[in-house]
Amino acid sequence: MTEKEWHIMNVEEVIKELQTSLDGLTTEQFKYRQGQYGLNKLKEYKKTSPLKIFFKQFTDFLIIILLIATIVSAFIGEFIDAIVILTIVLACALLGFFQEYRSEKAVEALKKLSAPKATVIRNSEEQEIPAEELVPGDLIIVRVGDKVPADARLIEEMNLETDEAVLTGESVPVKKEVSPVLEKGIPIADRKCMIYAGTTVTHGHGKAVVTETGMETEFGKIAKMIQSIETEKTPLEIRLEHIGKWLGFACLVVCALASVSGILRGYDYLDMFIWGISLAVAAVPEALPAVVTGALSIGVQRMAKNNAIVKRLPAVETLGCTSVICSDKTGTLTKNEMTVKKIYVNRKTISVTGTGYEPKGKFFHKGKRWDPEKDPHISLLFKIGLLCNDASLRQENGIWKVHGDPTEGALVVVAAKAGFDQESIKEKHPRVGEISFDMIRKRMTTIHPKSEKKQIAYVKGAPELMLNLCTKIYERGRIRKMTPKKKEEILELTKRMASKALRILAFAYREIPVMDKEEYTPENVENNLIFVGLMGMIDPPRKEAISAIRSCTRAGIRPVIVTGDHAITAFAIAKEIKLIKPGEKMTKDILITGPELDELSDEDLERVVDKIKIYARVNPHHKLRIIEALKKKGVIVAMTGDGINDAPALRKADIGISMGITGTDVTKEASDMILADDNFVTIVKAVKEGRAIYDNIKKYLLYLLQCNIGEILVLALSFFIGLPPPLIAIQILWVNLATDGLPALALGIDPPEPDLMKQPPRKPKQSVFTKRIIAMIVVLALTMAMILLPEFYWYLKHEGLDKARTMLFVTMILFEIFNAFNSRSDKHSLFKIGVFSNRWLNLAVLSSLLLMIILIQVPALNSLFHMTSLNFSDWVVAVLASSITLGVGEGWKWMVRKKW
Ligand code: ATP
Repeated sequence: MTEKEWHIMNVEEVIKELQTSLDGLTTEQFKYRQGQYGLNKLKEYKKTSPLKIFFKQFTDFLIIILLIATIVSAFIGEFIDAIVILTIVLACALLGFFQEYRSEKAVEALKKLSAPKATVIRNSEEQEIPAEELVPGDLIIVRVGDKVPADARLIEEMNLETDEAVLTGESVPVKKEVSPVLEKGIPIADRKCMIYAGTTVTHGHGKAVVTETGMETEFGKIAKMIQSIETEKTPLEIRLEHIGKWLGFACLVVCALASVSGILRGYDYLDMFIWGISLAVAAVPEALPAVVTGALSIGVQRMAKNNAIVKRLPAVETLGCTSVICSDKTGTLTKNEMTVKKIYVNRKTISVTGTGYEPKGKFFHKGKRWDPEKDPHISLLFKIGLLCNDASLRQENGIWKVHGDPTEGALVVVAAKAGFDQESIKEKHPRVGEISFDMIRKRMTTIHPKSEKKQIAYVKGAPELMLNLCTKIYERGRIRKMTPKKKEEILELTKRMASKALRILAFAYREIPVMDKEEYTPENVENNLIFVGLMGMIDPPRKEAISAIRSCTRAGIRPVIVTGDHAITAFAIAKEIKLIKPGEKMTKDILITGPELDELSDEDLERVVDKIKIYARVNPHHKLRIIEALKKKGVIVAMTGDGINDAPALRKADIGISMGITGTDVTKEASDMILADDNFVTIVKAVKEGRAIYDNIKKYLLYLLQCNIGEILVLALSFFIGLPPPLIAIQILWVNLATDGLPALALGIDPPEPDLMKQPPRKPKQSVFTKRIIAMIVVLALTMAMILLPEFYWYLKHEGLDKARTMLFVTMILFEIFNAFNSRSDKHSLFKIGVFSNRWLNLAVLSSLLLMIILIQVPALNSLFHMTSLNFSDWVVAVLASSITLGVGEGWKWMVRKKW
């Protein structure tokens, strides 16, 4: 498509040029255009091809040396050995390939999960679609907090402002307008009637027609610069890379010493070289960081299945350390299914029946049916509720659904119960202006025409703040003065309603002179209001939140509610979900409000921050202060948020959590984790998974290191004490393949230990190598040396070198298999966690065993590996000798349970 200057055209010209209409494209048009323009996404940077991943496995320094040495030895006659070595190295490479390929796929799948969405009008209907399905000519709607999904020409806007820093570097939001900018070739920043892909909506909302998609957008043109972002390494990966290097170096030194001493003792130097390198290949934990990444990304995939979408791998590690979860209330701890239950107008409290969004219910006053249509006070209340409202109610497949904010949806439902139709009222009273809801003002205003010179402003919001703005009240059919006494009575009533866990909104209105759009500001409009009434709605707590709160407490994690809602409502909900114990009073020690927080100095806040369970009526900036105070106490904080203003708090928290359903694109982008179901329970599950992943990495390390150190000890020690090499190169490589491979991988997905969520959170600075882990590695590696060396010596003396090597080979593999089971916990008995509870480990072990038995018992194969077959009693000796490690492991854990 040639570049068009859309900004100089007026709306009609753009619509005509793009062959679309104000009803949006039809499905057929969309399909045709998708074939023409492709998907609305940036071209992927070069993905690593599977072949590249495969060949990468051979770029390891040690492997290259081993391959060269093998080829050299093949030339001088050791042809069969060379082929066997090559085969084993190939098998190792395949294993490495699958491991890496799998984690690459996992990371890719995650990217898809957090793919952006767009609101589009197609076939005259508003719908949410994946942003990549947009085509030129589509009609899109953008709202505050959205990321603009494509370049588009505005056709309607209400106070629309966007942040275009990604494109222009200008951090001040740009005010948008519909009228064309009649100047060719002006910079993007000045094309006020255009919105651009990748920028974010910071204020208001608008409707626009898509002009460019994918790589054709302005963002697409600079995309190459952005795509070079590297995937972040986790602190654990970095630490392990470091440790791996040191361990690798130490291994190399030992292997070199052993090889040199072999050469000095008269063994063939090339043989010794290959032997030394093989030992190094087996012992150097070069795959360590890759396995950690694998375990993390597979875990992350598992979390995604449980509705927790982790965006950055390092977050998984931090999740496991979380010690405080600061959570919203609405939707997270409650169901976010609002139903108006109580109405207050004209000194009367009216009850409403019915549940959910079905517009069926009756009205009662003092036990008697009440006809709201005949009551002018309720009629006005409903009118405000319907006009000062962005939600709508629809029946889809027989189910009533609210589109938009559930709080506002409840207002449409209650009015529908009384026979008020939102569509016709909205048509009769079009909206000419608005002051959108924000978390700081906690109210919203819309403006509608009344006469040539007058307009009406309808306002709804948090009662105690609204009452301060009301100077009059509509009562007994007349507008009267709002007296302090009346205000006090209404406030008392809101408290009574709130103590029943009702969320309350107040409704008011006023006439204003006709003014310019720019003059619709809170200062100009939201004062001298006429109070009309209140509506109280229930939002039932999520049942599962109760057990999640309990499991948090058991796991040493403190759940805290941080809400914009009324203190008493929040306290009542907290009681229902048992965050507040029965009999506990609403004192400032456990509940504090935003305004009270403003009175506290940072030092005072730090003093109380450990105890407070509820922060009510807070603004996003309070969230920042809470996080800062908690962090100063050394706490790892997870914080939820949904609105655009929550983004800084989410960035500041150790784990920023955004809402998948109600969250804006901006908060999603600022967060480390997205809750696909907005549910508090999902956070707790993610913390558990975070702990489990970390534990599994620990198990893997425990296993890998005790095996590798054990192998080195046995092989090097026997050499140093003057025995022949207990295993030859190909045998060493086989042991490495059989044990380091599949069983190690299976440990990476071990089921969590039974008391995982009964332990206090791990300290973030704590190393994976705790004293307990190091001690266990030393104990088990020493056990291996102490059993295998005497066994080798005995067989060498009585049955010859080949038999002794075969026995050592078999016993070492069995030893390592038993150690894989030992490594499943550094504290609990294997019998407590279930010997066979890791199905993957069982399979891995079984395949390792089977291959080993075939190798030993099939004469053609064992001669290839320079081994002999074993008789029954040899097998019994091997099994008994190796099982000692299980006994030692169990004994050690018993001591740990008693003393540590
Ligand atoms: P949380 O999710 O943390 O529980 P919240 O949803 O209660 O927070 P906000 O959405 O910031 O917090 O709402 C704060 C207050 O603003 C509400 O208690 C209510 O009084 C008022 N309010 C909420 N939604 C609207 C709305 N759409 N229009 C007007 N006022 C609103």
